[in-house]
Amino acid sequence: PPEAAPSKGVLGRLFGRSEAKIAVRRTLDDDMLEQLEELLIASDMGVDTALRVTANMAEGRFGRKLSTQEIKQLLAQEVARVMEPVAKPLPIYPKRPQVVLVVGVNGSGKTTTIGKLASQFKSAGKKVVIAAGDTFRAAAVEQLQVWGERAGVPVLTAPEGSDPASLAFDALTKAQEDGADLLMIDTAGRLQNRADLMEELAKIVRVIRKKDETAPHNTLLVLDATTGQNALSQVETFRNLADVSGLVMTKLDGTAKGGVLVALADKFGLPIHAIGVGEQIDDLAPFDPEEFAAALTG
Ligand code: GDP
Repeated sequence: PPEAAPSKGVLGRLFGRSEAKIAVRRTLDDDMLEQLEELLIASDMGVDTALRVTANMAEGRFGRKLSTQEIKQLLAQEVARVMEPVAKPLPIYPKRPQVVLVVGVNGSGKTTTIGKLASQFKSAGKKVVIAAGDTFRAAAVEQLQVWGERAGVPVLTAPEGSDPASLAFDALTKAQEDGADLLMIDTAGRLQNRADLMEELAKIVRVIRKKDETAPHNTLLVLDATTGQNALSQVETFRNLADVSGLVMTKLDGTAKGGVLVALADKFGLPIHAIGVGEQIDDLAPFDPEEFAAALTG
């Protein structure tokens, strides 16, 4: 029978998808492990994590004959085990307004993610305010306004080129006055001049702490899954620029293979608060480790 459409699943590529093939038993030997490693690496998992995952999977089972189905389940289990500790929704603080700083390189999906999050919190009955802190990109500000309208959430803006920290301060003042539950602050994502960006982010933090010394309560780093292993270096960069508290991985609906999420969890252990699965307002999903592991390995 013809194979099903190619999926992101690692084992489908190795064994094929037909029922007959799934029942075949294979020896879990070096050759098999090497093939699995290669497929995991090709899924953007990175060498270190791929080796760790397959080694854990083989522990106590090396040389056994296993059905393809069993191999798939074991691999999925190992992936889920790495991912379970990081699958955490955005923590909600008792402090109001909760201030969420959103960072990431341009194009990663910051604006879209802020719009989706705003819509989710609004639907949950929360009062949300957005600050368009990327004041140097007029297009980014306009996009955020469009998302604010879609979500039914006010977007505070400042003239092009004005100080993002001053906008953040005004936005927090307004959010406090209005009794908002949540303030999301967009930030610039140009990495060309890291010293500038670092100073800009540090200044935003310094200034909002004048109004609330516990802010920001979360610093969300938005990453684009289609950049593959590049996401790892982005985490390293942004951890040096800001106090990153959690991740959102976007564009997992596309051709991205998603293995980089396992590498991220393995390497940094930062919580994954949500995943972007499309361009529409409802296309933000909680991260589900079992579902993810099954899709990646299946
Ligand atoms: P920003 O520059 O970081 O603010 O990025 P944007 O939010 O403007 O997103 C850049 C592009 O990625 C836009 O075309 C979005 O529609 C698209 N995008 C964002 N998130 C997702 C996602 O989860 N899936 C898909 N397919 N596209 C996304």
